Amino acid sequence: MAVETIVPAVNVNAAKLGPAANEKDAEKLRFIEEMTASADAVQEKVLEEILTRNSGTEYLRRYGLGCATDRATFKAMVPVVTYEDLQPEIQRIANGDRSAILSAHPISEFLTSSGTSAGERKLMPTIKEELDRRQLLYSLLMPVMNLYVPGLDKGKGLYFLFVKSETKTPGGLTARPVLTSYYKSEHFKSRPYDPYNVYTSPTAAILCADAFQSMYAQMLCGLLQRLDVLRVGAVFASGLLRAIRFLQLHWQELSHDIANGLLTAKVTDPSIRSAVAELLKPDPELARFITAECSKGDWAGIITRIWPNTKYLDVIVTGAMAQYIPTLEYYSGGLPMACTMYASSECYFGLNLKPMCDPSEVSYTIMPNMAYFEFLPHGHQPGPDKTQLVDLADVEVGKEYELVITTYAGLNRYRVGDILRVTGFYNAAPQFRFVRRKNVLLSIESDKTDEAELQKAVESASALLRPYAASVVEYTSHAYTKAIPGHYVIYWELLVKDTAAGETLAALARDGVMEQCCLAMEEALNSVYRQSRVADGSIGPLEIRVVRAGTFEELMDYAISRGASINQYKVPRCVSFPPILELLDSRAVSAHFSPALPRWSPHRSTN
Ligand code: AMP
Repeated sequence: MAVETIVPAVNVNAAKLGPAANEKDAEKLRFIEEMTASADAVQEKVLEEILTRNSGTEYLRRYGLGCATDRATFKAMVPVVTYEDLQPEIQRIANGDRSAILSAHPISEFLTSSGTSAGERKLMPTIKEELDRRQLLYSLLMPVMNLYVPGLDKGKGLYFLFVKSETKTPGGLTARPVLTSYYKSEHFKSRPYDPYNVYTSPTAAILCADAFQSMYAQMLCGLLQRLDVLRVGAVFASGLLRAIRFLQLHWQELSHDIANGLLTAKVTDPSIRSAVAELLKPDPELARFITAECSKGDWAGIITRIWPNTKYLDVIVTGAMAQYIPTLEYYSGGLPMACTMYASSECYFGLNLKPMCDPSEVSYTIMPNMAYFEFLPHGHQPGPDKTQLVDLADVEVGKEYELVITTYAGLNRYRVGDILRVTGFYNAAPQFRFVRRKNVLLSIESDKTDEAELQKAVESASALLRPYAASVVEYTSHAYTKAIPGHYVIYWELLVKDTAAGETLAALARDGVMEQCCLAMEEALNSVYRQSRVADGSIGPLEIRVVRAGTFEELMDYAISRGASINQYKVPRCVSFPPILELLDSRAVSAHFSPALPRWSPHRSTN
């Protein structure tokens, strides 16, 4: 079935979003109007389609749904689940069981989420046609953007896009991140020419799994076509900042290549070399310009200095990425930041209909054709009657909900873990502010470390202190993002026997124990963290700052002075409030960094 067929006959005003830039855009805007105007009817139809096709699956048969395809029966009989609940089914599929366990359509691959379970990326089953659904959502983004920024067909987009390594499950299915899957698909590789979607990066550079070669080529091509660039972007803010850091570190080599018209020998990938060769000719004037701009040591506004025609940054700065807004403002001289879409490995959810709004105002409109959506009022556990979940069209403005999805690929009433607040409606479709992801304590880029993982890492590292009769009495953490790449800072207060305190500290320093503790913590963190450290270099070495004895008591005093209850006080395991960070830093007696990279391999651990 074509994914665009779910269009109920409604009479809507296609120009409500604004006059479309062209006929193709008008058709896409009409589609948005139709979907949002009949959100509830579309949702009913989507569920009916999913249940009709998947009614024979082992999973749905288990709940005795029979041939019912209506919402009431579905909600009454099928439980709300988490990834851990589905683990046995997912493991069987990964091990090669091709029977219709979750989905009637064959599982084409697994998408590896940045959310982890037992330290490994979650495996999300997907089916071929989901690519069409994702493509459909992508195709809506430029028609909306064209309403606000005219002339984007007159130039190009400098987008830093990357693939990551992929692996095979024991049963032979590919497992890779959703964007890697998309960039490697024919949808992306063989996309028809579209003047509104011309990138400066050659596809060969995007598809190279070597992070250095890919980034080098993308930056070089961006510099060569600098006057054509109308928008600069990456998927997440952290990715764009990594690109700027790359320019800071490599501008001399890049200028050298431009001056001579020769690509550095460090880029060995033959398809990148031939793609770059088509663009790279000796251009001493451009090389001089880049050298002049980058050698000043002043990086403020570097994006608009090098790419002066940039109209906006296309980068997600909502959720965990909001911490990068000030840095991006600094480097871009205050360009608008467009957060265009909200998506995940499980399902692409929706788009921002006002992409040029301030980051603090961003709301995403969930497209009702993507999956069947339910909303668990935040703070509620789904009870046995499973009735608290609200349908897309019935959510209330101002309330917070956890997103629960039922997908064509076979997730049924699956808790995504995102908390969303309803900010309003577009037609009959609600719009949501991304509030936060549940249980995430620390995040630098796509890594998500929760409290239990941090606790486990501290425990594992502090074992190294035992031979020195020292231990960790208290700890907290902070995602340090003032430098790029950012890194985790863990504050430790140590307990050392008073009588031998001086000697113990000297022995710890002599033996480099604190540094080893940093590495031991990294080894204990989940695979997404370690991949970012090792393969992408997008997280810097973990740092332990040792604070003097009594610091955490002072922290408690401070919290109580600000109104915390003495009985209920708990040490915060992550801090970002500047006065608290100042307090901790002013009590720091030493700082230690991880001396090496933790272990990471693209293959999943089997335990
Ligand atoms: P993954 O499964 O690794 O693709 O990560 C998907 C998760 O990233 C979502 O469930 C959200 O928590 C987060 N995410 C995706 N898009 C956005 C966005 N536009 N704003 C904030 N968080 C987002």
